This record gives sequence, C-alpha cells and structure tokens, in this order.
Amino acid sequence: MADQPLERPIDLLDLAPSPNGTKPAGRTSRAQWVYETLRAAIHRHHFTHGDRIREEDVARSLGVSRTPVREALSRLQSRGLLEMAPGGLVIAALARPQIMELYAMREILEGSAARFAALKASQAEIDSLYRIHEAFDRARESAPRMAQVNRDFHQGIYEAGHNRYLMRTLDELHDALTLLPSTTFTVTGRPVTALAEHGAILDAINARDADRAESLARDHIAHALKARLELMFSYA
Ligand SMILES: [Zn+2]
Repeated sequence: MADQPLERPIDLLDLAPSPNGTKPAGRTSRAQWVYETLRAAIHRHHFTHGDRIREEDVARSLGVSRTPVREALSRLQSRGLLEMAPGGLVIAALARPQIMELYAMREILEGSAARFAALKASQAEIDSLYRIHEAFDRARESAPRMAQVNRDFHQGIYEAGHNRYLMRTLDELHDALTLLPSTTFTVTGRPVTALAEHGAILDAINARDADRAESLARDHIAHALKARLELMFSYA
C-alpha cells in the first residue's frame, strides 16, 4: 500500500476548499489552498496511514506547479500529519505513546473549553448545542454519522467558550486525532455512554456550573481514550 501512487485525482480536487476547484492566484495563497485540500483529504480519511504522498502526483492531481505543493507538504509534515519514511513522505501513524499524550492534552483542553462555555456561552449557543445533542441521539444507527455529529458538538463547545487561542490549539490537536483509524463509536456501549456524558456536560454548561462542566468534559475524554485503546489494542 505504501508504494501506491496517489490515486483518485478527481476526488482530491473535489475536496478543495473553493467551489469547482478554483485555484487562487499567487504562490502563497496557492500553497495554502493545496494545504487545505490535503488536510481535508486526511480529515475525511481519503488517505490512510502509510499512504505515500508524492509531490508530482499532488501537483498533477490538483493542476498546480510543484512549488506550492512542496510548501504545503512541508507544512503538513511540521504539523505531524506527514512523516518521512524510507522512500519519501507518507501519511503519519500514531503509536501508543503519542495517543496517550494526545488524549492527556485533549482531556485538559476539552475540560477548559467546557469551563469557558459554562462562563461565556450565550443562550443561543446553548440552545444550538442541545439541538446538536438531539441529532447525536438520532445518529445512533451509524458510527460514522455519530463521529461527525460528535465533532460538531465539541466544536460547538469550543466556539461557545470564546477563546481564540484555545480554539487554535484544539484545531491543531484535531489534526492529530484525524490520523487515528476509525471511530470509537463502534465500541459496544460507547454511543449510549457518550450520549449520556454529552447530556450531563451540556446541563452543567446550561446551569453555568463551570467546575462541574470541566470535570465532566475531562471524564468524557478519559472514557473516550479507554474506548480508543480497547479498539486499537484489544486482541480478544
Ligand atoms: Zn464527545
């Protein structure tokens, strides 16, 4: 798999941030456009870890020169989404220690986001979170749909926290999270407990109880890690 060239060029162009794959002019904005397109492709699991990403393939797929592609690839590498393997750049994989570190940070940051949301959220933001929470309940039949709505729920909490630096840090953390294969919502019982946990976090935010919101959000991530480890390292 690692030696396969980049395929599905039309799909890749479909993931571009601008409509119909319209490329911006100018070298810097073009590099940014390539970066966003590849990042979207990784987020949507268009690639999986170990997939080789070749400069010339990306350039051809997206119809751009190699210079902006080189810049975009170097940025993806510095953000940990790509790594150097013996024959060139590949989609990075996370080993168990990295996963532990990632969730340790996530526990702190998601806890802080819930705390800030309890202090700063507008009533409209809280109402919107309740609507996402209901959509999460309705999504229980489909693990990928649950994963998407879960992402929206957490994103809603970050935004309701109104702290741009926290949001930026969480954004970077989510880049790493997308490198993890599949979703924890396939683990038996996880959808039901996650739903209950979301409900409790939300009620604490709605009650403006910052301590409780933070502590429940931290517990939620600790439970997600447990499900993640069960999923990835269980040999039963
Ligand atoms: Zn969640």
